[in-house]
Amino acid sequence: MKVLLVYAHPEPRSLNGALRDVAIKELKAQGHEVRISDLYADGWKSQVDRADFPTLAQDERLVPAGASKKAFETETLTEDVKAEIEKLLWADALILQFPMWWFSMPAILKGWVDRVFAYGFAYGVGEHSDVRWGDRYGDGTLTGKRAMLIVTAGGWEEHYAPRGINGPIDDLLFPINHGILYYPGYNVLPPFVVYRVDRFDESGLEPVAERLRERMRTLSTTPPIPYRQQNAGDYSIPSMQLHPELGDPGATGFALHVKNDGGANEQ
Ligand code: FAD
Repeated sequence: MKVLLVYAHPEPRSLNGALRDVAIKELKAQGHEVRISDLYADGWKSQVDRADFPTLAQDERLVPAGASKKAFETETLTEDVKAEIEKLLWADALILQFPMWWFSMPAILKGWVDRVFAYGFAYGVGEHSDVRWGDRYGDGTLTGKRAMLIVTAGGWEEHYAPRGINGPIDDLLFPINHGILYYPGYNVLPPFVVYRVDRFDESGLEPVAERLRERMRTLSTTPPIPYRQQNAGDYSIPSMQLHPELGDPGATGFALHVKNDGGANEQ
């Protein structure tokens, strides 16, 4: 497989840096081709602004989604964004690696998503009508490819358990896994999360590294999270409500959008 690893940590000698090297080494040992986007090292520009749309007239109001659409259609996205899109189209699998900062990804990585997941590429794809609400959540430009997160967190695993004070890790990562990765079509694998990392030392690394190597060895075979597909009949269009007979009675929230029959829906 071809694998793109997008790495968002400012320090190569960090724990994240060590885990990145473990992942890359194992992927290469398995015969995969690997490319890396090292966002801090590359000086990635994280904010969306006028500089992203050089063809926009100086006096024209900047409407980010509209400008993104036009730039994608006319192939006038900036070179840094075009290079990332080329990598995403090249890769069979995408890995996003980051330390959890304020219960989410570092701003530089969010900015990578904001700029690279352009209108017409990652959203605004396909027919939008009374009967179809675009190609997303199971369909889209990146359908058939795999994606997963590698995340380190200072908090304990119990703090992220179903009754833990931070909220369940699957809920916290849902906006990334479902909203960012599943939306444009990726089959999203369960995340690799390392907890309580601030107390980490040399003796702690090897067991975690081995778990990570195993995830890299099974990157092409691990079943994806069985999110419901928008265009497979589970939702009313255009209200986008899950049909009332689906999901556990009384259930609300993110878990509703994961099939509870356990069936994977890989495309
Ligand atoms: P490092 O700081 O590089 O290392 C962590 C530990 O591992 C250190 O003890 C270090 O000595 C050791 N280590 C480093 N490299 C190696 C190696 N090669 N071998 C063995 N040991 C090594 N946590 C949460 O749970 N939730 C949050 O919302 C959250 N928000 C945060 C917000 C901010 C702004 C910051 C700075 C931190 C936050 N944290 C949070 C904690 C954060 O998730 C961790 O600090 C981070 O994941 C640690 O990863 P690192 O790569 O920076 O580790």
